[in-house]
Amino acid sequence: MPLDKRNLYRMPWSMNDNAIAWLEVTDICNLRCEGCYRQHLTGHKTLEQIKDEIRFFKQWRNPDNVSIAGGEPLLHPQIMDVVAFIAENGMKPIVLTNAVTFSPQLLREFKRAGLAGFTIHIDSHQGRPHWKDKNEKDLNELRQQYADMVAAEKGLYVIFNSTVYPSTFHEIPDVVRWGHANMDRVAGLVFITYRTATTTDNVAFDLHSQQVDLGRLSYVRDQFDERFVTSPEVYQLIQDNFPEYEASCYLGGTMVHSSFKWLAAALVGSRRKVFGSVGKQTMEVAQAGHHLFSGTYLAYLTKSRVGAKIFLLCPWDPTLRKTWRSWLGDVVRHPGHLFDPLYIQSIGIIQAPDIQPDGRADMCDSCPDMTVYDGKLINSCRMDEYRLFGGFLSVTKRANLPQPEPGGDR
Ligand code: SF4
Repeated sequence: MPLDKRNLYRMPWSMNDNAIAWLEVTDICNLRCEGCYRQHLTGHKTLEQIKDEIRFFKQWRNPDNVSIAGGEPLLHPQIMDVVAFIAENGMKPIVLTNAVTFSPQLLREFKRAGLAGFTIHIDSHQGRPHWKDKNEKDLNELRQQYADMVAAEKGLYVIFNSTVYPSTFHEIPDVVRWGHANMDRVAGLVFITYRTATTTDNVAFDLHSQQVDLGRLSYVRDQFDERFVTSPEVYQLIQDNFPEYEASCYLGGTMVHSSFKWLAAALVGSRRKVFGSVGKQTMEVAQAGHHLFSGTYLAYLTKSRVGAKIFLLCPWDPTLRKTWRSWLGDVVRHPGHLFDPLYIQSIGIIQAPDIQPDGRADMCDSCPDMTVYDGKLINSCRMDEYRLFGGFLSVTKRANLPQPEPGGDR
């Protein structure tokens, strides 16, 4: 089915009542990913500063989970104290990591500290030692190592993120296929479409309309001639390869009414087979029900093993009914499959900010990844504009600048 906002649930998140808060504990990292938005300017934050930010989130954000990010958060010497403090404050701590320093012992410590799970970023543009010149399919071997390590610890969940470049777009089905084969241990996959600005074509101005050096931002390149991938294109590619995949919810853009900035599907399946997806009604029940009973919106299920009870929502959800019929057909053909555990696996697509012709950016409406900077909530993907230039920049095409009049400077 083609994407149509009328068939999708618009996530009810907002600035002050959002499922997610984004906490950065350090800007130091042990990799140099091409798509990264952060550069090393200040180093590790102190534990007191981090605790203040967590209290700020509790007061102003009402999150279900706090995403502990960076930089590479595992490099922070007090990371276990950070996790414990979030858990003590009644929120779910999630660590966003490249997992380079993972070990079974470390995972055990995280579990003891109260961690809910990990989001591990792996893609072929990270310059990982020992994994250079590998494609996304090759990297499934690394994903498998980490998925198995987390599964062995039991009680922690794991999601895998990757940035999608024009050159790696066609490899997405290889990652989804791998995810499907690991329904019992991979709670979700997220594909983030790469964006950059170029100094050759663009100029930037700060809040005082002063031109600034755009090249100081780590994610700006001299030149980038490829066409950016959009989230509907990623969606279509996945659906062409996996017809059981159907999106159920979205977040739009702050400027463009037709944007799909966040697009998510929740698939239902066993280790043998994926049967289908849930529809927008189930997503609405999950959000509204969680808010009613827990007081917060929901970002991640802590347990992806849902069992056949998920089908109780079939009377309200036609997409889920299709999934149920597929499961039932399988059970009739193979009665032994009745006892196969059923899991939910989410597939998210994020389309990072798009610069508009007037220089402003189309951001994710109700941005779930807002962080705190200087006592304010700001979009984490653009925090380096604050750190380097004191606020968001406005970017315009060099060609649109007024040209100096001939002989005017004489
Ligand atoms: S606007 Fe928010 S959610 Fe969207 S890419 Fe930026 S930080 Fe992430």
